[in-house]
Amino acid sequence: MKKIITLFLLVTFSALGGNTFFDKKSTNWSIYIPESSGQVAQYAAEELRDTLKKISGADFKIVKTNQIPDSNAIVIGTLKNSKAVAANATKLKLAASKFDQLAIYSVGKNLYLAGNRPRAALYAVYRFLQSQLGVRWFWVDSDGEFTPKKSKWELPQLAINETGGFRERDMTPVGYQSYVAMGPWASRNMLNCYGKRLAIRDKTGAIKQHIGHGHQVALSRKLFAKHPEWFSLVNGKRIPEGYAGCWSNPEFTKYMVEKLTAIAKKSDAEIACYFPADTMIRCECAKCTKNPDASSRWFQYYAKLIRKIHKKMPDLRFSGIAYMEYRDIPTSPIEELDYVKYCQSDRCYIHKFNDPNCKLNKKSLKELQKWMKKTPVGIYGYHFDLLRPRMYIPFWNMLADEIKTYKKFGNIIYIKTEFTLSHPGSTKREDRGHMLMRLPGYIYAQMLWNPDADVDAILKDWCKYVYGPAKGELLAYHRAMAASWDSQKAHASYYDVPPNGIAKSFISDKLITLADKLFKKATAKIAKVTDEKKRKRYLKEIEFEKNVFNKWRKVRQLSKAEQVAICLSKNTSFKNVPTFPLVNKAKTKSSGTVAMSWTKDALHIQVNCLPGFKTRGGVGSTERDKTFGGKSDLVEIFINPNDGSEYLHFAVNPAGGIYDAKAWDVSWNPNWKRSVVKTATEWRVTIELPFKELGKIPKVGDQWSIVVNRYTSPFSGFPSPMFHNPSGGALIQFSNKNLPKHSLLWINNLNKRVPSFLSKLLVNGWSYLYCEGAKNVPIQLPKVNMIILTATRWNDIPKAVFTQRLLPMVKNGAVLLLEINGAPLAKYFNDESFKMGFQERNIVSPRKVHWITSGKFANTPNDMSKALNPPPPAIYIPKYPKKWKNLATQKLKDGSIHPFLLARPYGKGLVVVTKYNGGWPRTASKVVPLINNIMEYSCE
Ligand SMILES: [Zn+2]
Ligand SMILES: [Zn+2]
Repeated sequence: MKKIITLFLLVTFSALGGNTFFDKKSTNWSIYIPESSGQVAQYAAEELRDTLKKISGADFKIVKTNQIPDSNAIVIGTLKNSKAVAANATKLKLAASKFDQLAIYSVGKNLYLAGNRPRAALYAVYRFLQSQLGVRWFWVDSDGEFTPKKSKWELPQLAINETGGFRERDMTPVGYQSYVAMGPWASRNMLNCYGKRLAIRDKTGAIKQHIGHGHQVALSRKLFAKHPEWFSLVNGKRIPEGYAGCWSNPEFTKYMVEKLTAIAKKSDAEIACYFPADTMIRCECAKCTKNPDASSRWFQYYAKLIRKIHKKMPDLRFSGIAYMEYRDIPTSPIEELDYVKYCQSDRCYIHKFNDPNCKLNKKSLKELQKWMKKTPVGIYGYHFDLLRPRMYIPFWNMLADEIKTYKKFGNIIYIKTEFTLSHPGSTKREDRGHMLMRLPGYIYAQMLWNPDADVDAILKDWCKYVYGPAKGELLAYHRAMAASWDSQKAHASYYDVPPNGIAKSFISDKLITLADKLFKKATAKIAKVTDEKKRKRYLKEIEFEKNVFNKWRKVRQLSKAEQVAICLSKNTSFKNVPTFPLVNKAKTKSSGTVAMSWTKDALHIQVNCLPGFKTRGGVGSTERDKTFGGKSDLVEIFINPNDGSEYLHFAVNPAGGIYDAKAWDVSWNPNWKRSVVKTATEWRVTIELPFKELGKIPKVGDQWSIVVNRYTSPFSGFPSPMFHNPSGGALIQFSNKNLPKHSLLWINNLNKRVPSFLSKLLVNGWSYLYCEGAKNVPIQLPKVNMIILTATRWNDIPKAVFTQRLLPMVKNGAVLLLEINGAPLAKYFNDESFKMGFQERNIVSPRKVHWITSGKFANTPNDMSKALNPPPPAIYIPKYPKKWKNLATQKLKDGSIHPFLLARPYGKGLVVVTKYNGGWPRTASKVVPLINNIMEYSCE
């Protein structure tokens, strides 16, 4: 057998030549792993064999032996498990270290892929494939793998050493946590902790963390019956809610040591991180509270537990976490811990640490530095959780700055951030958390291994692989996105923040124009790729980036400080749909109204042009595309379908002459209908734009932007006169409702935060006009069914706005929902009977709705007992209770019952009063039901 192998090697050797690694799907190289090596070496060999096969088509054999031939051997191993590696230790420059070290070396006529521990040898395999053969694993899904095909390759002389930038590098999967592909992706990008799937963890040699959450210093409440003395003493009594335990009770400690040891054993853990139950209730017994410093109490107790666990598992390492009452630095020393994890969700994810204008980061870093003086630390980050819904965040310059800063600090042992995974089978590509953040996620992993890496070089490399010939356009796009993110004056911190607020400072009209231009150019370049498979792959990625960008575009449309959004009814009649005024720029005058609806075939628009405005006189030309030549009045429409294509431009003059163009291209002449009806003074245009002719078929839920201008002097328009910039216009959302329910004027005088549920209103059939600040309420307003006014203080609300603009609408039938604290209602309504007391103290805790009025308000269309609980931390005491109807009440501690939501008729309309904080529920699932029910109630 041996002879045959030798003969075979000799023959192929002479055929392929000395340094030829593979040629024409053939190789004379084999992969050698040590006899006694474990599953990580085996996995490394298989990863190498399988990837080389994809690149070359050649079969590389795996040989498990300690006898290494003199040539053509790829040797995988560590100093410990491989005699060949140990023999070459000096040359390979490997040593025992807490950091992962890899070595890629030509030794004689062999290639060494070695490491100072099994996973480091696996990383040597990956680094070899990446740096020498151009392999990339950019994202978690299988199409994130790039293995360039080669028919022949010569192995160069290699001498490469690399060391991981941090000892422990973690990206913890959240969301679809059990996604199997996460482990291999993380390992291929040299992360050494990633989630808790044992099989892949052990195969890749990742750090063995304990399985399950950390809140393990806790009892099951079921134990209370048998061992009440194990539970925390609160107000002199042991209570089942005290399941964080009595730490001075030796029996509790004994039970905990057994429990924690069992968890570590079951996880085959090398490191564990335990902390108290997720409740703030702590034992108040004299022994437990002897030390007045609550943080020290925990860290000292934890050390005591660890010493006892070490008797059973002496090698188990421990980390701690700074959290709850032990987030404060303890006065006692920190013992038995490798490091303490510091949760840095309070940093700003926009600015670099040294940005003089970012106070958030200054504060966050100061806290961290205090901890670093006390103990080595780990970082628990939430970077990728910042926005909900998840969006593409181009914040790698901030990430790189953070990682470089941490590296400089020197005593940061562990870095972790959460990374959202989505199910690839059930979630669209552009909706998957890990796909939206694929680029920053990849850069983050790369930087943890090499904090000195050049971020822009990584980005360039990415663009070359992913977008092929369109690499230049996409590089410019990603760079522009990052520059725009970095230059924001706004700050962003914590997690699950709605993206609306950030969109305002992040996505500018200029950025939208640039992105559209670059995507268009990129698509044109890809169309020229002749290889069909490649063309499709590049196109798919550019489409993906476009879709991802469109998410920002949509959020941006919804988050303007002043904006109009129309729930477009599926209906051809203009009678029952909301109409909006055409106003001058100052919004002081209205020259007409516009109404819109749609059918499955067309968009319908009607514009009524009122008399009394200076226009250009004549009726204009009837020759196509010449309407601007004349000096006539004109109705002009700009539409942006928000899909990255050019905006559409239409115009009609009183003579019935038309203009149509795609951006400035007048050769575009689709077949659309219009009719002009004239009376002696006014004229009306009715337009039908067939979707087929526009080349855009909207789906329910799609959002387009629109501007409707009229050529008065000065110009008027909806939502205001704007030219060639429909992105700045009103939003129309295609709804499958036959009639939109209602329209809303929302005046937010409370803060500058756009409510995240505005988009949910559209889905529910509401059109709305959103207005930031009562001072900015325009004089000309559309007719609305409801006005919501949110305010903390009334001083900021001009009385003229209230009495001259809002109250007339209420008298005419609108509902006015005042979301306020104590307020001089009597003053504003100029009516003593509105006098209202307000109280925030002595409410029964936890707060609960005591009573809800019967009738439609309680249950039509929604169940109010759900939407109103918990009620606000406030009640109202009207001076003239008979003038008001209570809609919902809650109890005070003295047993008395008071309203927190109350209403009274006003003219043909209704006034409703409640408090903003909590009582006015902030989530879409509560707000939308509440205002829908109030509308039903007002019609009762
Ligand atoms: Zn106690
Ligand atoms: Zn900041």
